[in-house]
Amino acid sequence: MTQHDQLHRYLFENYAVRGELVTVSETLEQILAGHSYPQPVKNVLAELLVATSLLTATLKFEGDITVQLQGDGPMTLAVINGNNHQQLRGVARVQGEIPADADLKTLIGNGYLVITITPAEGERYQGVVGLEGDTLAACLEDYFQRSEQLPTRLIIRAGESEGKPAAGGMLLQVMPAQNAQAEDFEHLAALTDTIKAEELFTLPANDVLWRLYHEEEVTLYDPQGVEFKCTCSRERCAGALKTLPDEEINSILEEEGEIDMHCDYCGSHYVFNAMDIAEIRNDASPADPQVH
Ligand SMILES: [Zn+2]
Repeated sequence: MTQHDQLHRYLFENYAVRGELVTVSETLEQILAGHSYPQPVKNVLAELLVATSLLTATLKFEGDITVQLQGDGPMTLAVINGNNHQQLRGVARVQGEIPADADLKTLIGNGYLVITITPAEGERYQGVVGLEGDTLAACLEDYFQRSEQLPTRLIIRAGESEGKPAAGGMLLQVMPAQNAQAEDFEHLAALTDTIKAEELFTLPANDVLWRLYHEEEVTLYDPQGVEFKCTCSRERCAGALKTLPDEEINSILEEEGEIDMHCDYCGSHYVFNAMDIAEIRNDASPADPQVH
């Protein structure tokens, strides 16, 4: 039995190439829960989740990464956000009909991929690439090529394991400031690309690596847990309300009696009445009955 929702890092001893392997099941289920996404949208979120997990694992600092697809197609937005602790959340927005066999291009239409890296300290970085590739993995490789110039290969598989949605992926990257031979990297990438979804979902990481690279010397490090976690809070909602014009807030209060803010990621509701709003305007921190 494989332990899902873990991220593994590994290193090729004889090449300046490192790897990552992740599988997600529980985390994916929690992101999909409470929504009724069509299957192709679920697949895109699964792939985005794997990609974001692999990308955040490349961070050398505290911070988070948001990987976002947006366009003029029936799926207007799909986004996953994750941090260096491998806490991830995500959401998609759908308008109109989605064919059961819709591919990425059909879902997104004319669109692009936006990657936002937000360090806990320091400047935010945003990269945008057009959806040139047919798959999310191809688009991300394009991004790496343009932004970091580090040869990177992503392999993403989405499907089911034991009747539950599951996804997994692997990332190979040439180590910065080291000279890996292009043909060595291609060789390792070609080996990695032979991984089947079922193998990734059912085999322990050690067995996957053995199956792929049994002729190579590979060091596998202790895994890191991957989990669903939303970063919304009453405080953050209050902060957002502060940025709205008073008239707008007053008119909602008059019509509804309260302001009900809903988190798309986790389904939480944060309700503010006139007294809460008065406190926010006075800059006092509002009472917080919903969050511990
Ligand atoms: Zn939330």
